[in-house]
Amino acid sequence: MGKTQNQNTNSKLIAPGIYQISIPTPFAVGPVNVYLIEGDYLTLVDAGPKSPEAWEALETGIQNCGYEISDIKQIVLTHHHLDHSGLLERVRQSSNAIIMAHPLSVPYVELDKNFLDFHHDFFHQLYKESGVPDEGLRIVEKHHNKMGVFSEQSQIDLLLKHEQKVPNLPEWEVWYTPGHSQSHISLYRASDRILIGADHIIKHISSNALIEPPMNNATNRPLTLVQYRTSLEMCASRDIDFILPGHGEVVYNHRELITYRLKRNWDRSNDLRQFLRDGKKTAYELTTLLFPEVYRKELPLTFSETLGHLDLLSIVGQVEHTTKDGIIYYSL
Ligand SMILES: [Zn+2]
Repeated sequence: MGKTQNQNTNSKLIAPGIYQISIPTPFAVGPVNVYLIEGDYLTLVDAGPKSPEAWEALETGIQNCGYEISDIKQIVLTHHHLDHSGLLERVRQSSNAIIMAHPLSVPYVELDKNFLDFHHDFFHQLYKESGVPDEGLRIVEKHHNKMGVFSEQSQIDLLLKHEQKVPNLPEWEVWYTPGHSQSHISLYRASDRILIGADHIIKHISSNALIEPPMNNATNRPLTLVQYRTSLEMCASRDIDFILPGHGEVVYNHRELITYRLKRNWDRSNDLRQFLRDGKKTAYELTTLLFPEVYRKELPLTFSETLGHLDLLSIVGQVEHTTKDGIIYYSL
């Protein structure tokens, strides 16, 4: 059976029947929080990145809760990012647990070759038409190859969709909360109004609404920041006592934080409009202006952030764009 809170470890009882386990990651975001939910089916929410350190932290964290990895009956993946999904396969093989996730996680988790080729070509084309120079394209390529180190092919056994009960965890309901990732789900327990929000809402950093390719044969890429804001508004409309995040501290007063995040999007959008006052620019040029210190090191993240805000400005008619020689230029 589970233990109560244990000091000086990477795991703690954070709400009735819910343990939070902190797992180190090699990424800039820092450690990731995964959750262990007690019940007839011991459930792990997310697994951590694929690294020896992360595996050790997961193993000792679970032991400190009074369990072994082999006791896990099912794993719910909140979204496909590698800091959450990298250890899925190792946990599955060590426990025979079934893995559940949103359908849009499947091609990423299964490392579907056709999809990954399509994904690669989509970003190559997007960066090119956004004015990213060849040097930048090479950096992105290297970054993508490096990410392969932290992933391992696994499988999704059960698909989860909005407002569905989590199988074998009758108190918990799935909320589809896309934006940070197209595959992102959160888990809600109505009895005490707790949301496991993963990377949807994080207290100390604004969650990046990462650009993703179109899914399910759609023609256009999803407008991820616009979608993210809508998912935030959906959560603001619901009563939540606190949110257990994928990174950092518990979020209380979620409506206040959401209002702040929504406002910050417009501050950033207005910065972009200022940069366009002296003439048209590409999304890449705007990225270098918006993030002069970090754009070289974090091109995919900073580019995503910039393009998301340009999408937001575009749909309300506050910027226009034209294409010349295959390059897209934004203007006021
Ligand atoms: Zn994430």
